[in-house]
Amino acid sequence: CGIVGYLGPRDAYPIVIEGLKRLEYRGYDSAGIALFDGTDLKVSKTKGKVVDLETQVEKEITKHGNMGIGHTRWATHGVPNDVNSHPHSSNSGDLVIIHNGIIENYESLRKELTSRGYTFKSDTDTEVLINLIEDVKKKEKVKLGKAVQIALNQVIGAYAIAVFDKNRPGEIVIARLGSPLAIGVGEDEFFIASDASPFIEYTKNAIYLEDEEMAIIRENKDIKIRKIKDDTLVAPYIQELQI
Ligand code: GLU
Repeated sequence: CGIVGYLGPRDAYPIVIEGLKRLEYRGYDSAGIALFDGTDLKVSKTKGKVVDLETQVEKEITKHGNMGIGHTRWATHGVPNDVNSHPHSSNSGDLVIIHNGIIENYESLRKELTSRGYTFKSDTDTEVLINLIEDVKKKEKVKLGKAVQIALNQVIGAYAIAVFDKNRPGEIVIARLGSPLAIGVGEDEFFIASDASPFIEYTKNAIYLEDEEMAIIRENKDIKIRKIKDDTLVAPYIQELQI
């Protein structure tokens, strides 16, 4: 399973799809991608291989965008099929997530959200998490980053996630606990991946997120890294990758 993301001036699609191919060694049963140009959000996902996703995207998506997230899934909750593949959207359609890992208390969270009117298309724990984030965002009237942080403090489990909000173009929120996540820092562009292999040809500067850390990545802004539990800011430690 794996995660890839891009935010910057280039077309995100080729970077994300090639990145997913580099992460194939990690094992997976399905693949998916979300591409966003600041207005239109396109999601394409399928059971099968990254090449199957590529064929599908070529048929389905003509306009790509400069922001994208891609995922290879190793199913833990819900069989491998198209609907259970990531990305998953929130009920409003505004929030999009990719997730590697397991949300262990998803059943009780799902029950609570269902009782408040939320519906679910898939059998995944991940779709519960994105709707929990949406619920927090609405209830607390906070921005995406804060909503992710509050939601993750209600979650038991393991995760590497990347989330964005259609209403906040040029921003991706990521977080990790128990699953790896690296940020590639280029000139005016950012890469996200489960390991550095998807972005090493673009930049040698990498930040490895630690467990219980989250980062808000914004176009043309400094990366803000925080501890999920107590909100302390962490100074980004940029490592130079050796090849
Ligand atoms: N638990 C999630 C699912 O089953 C993510 C699995 C993964 O790590 O790819 O959809």
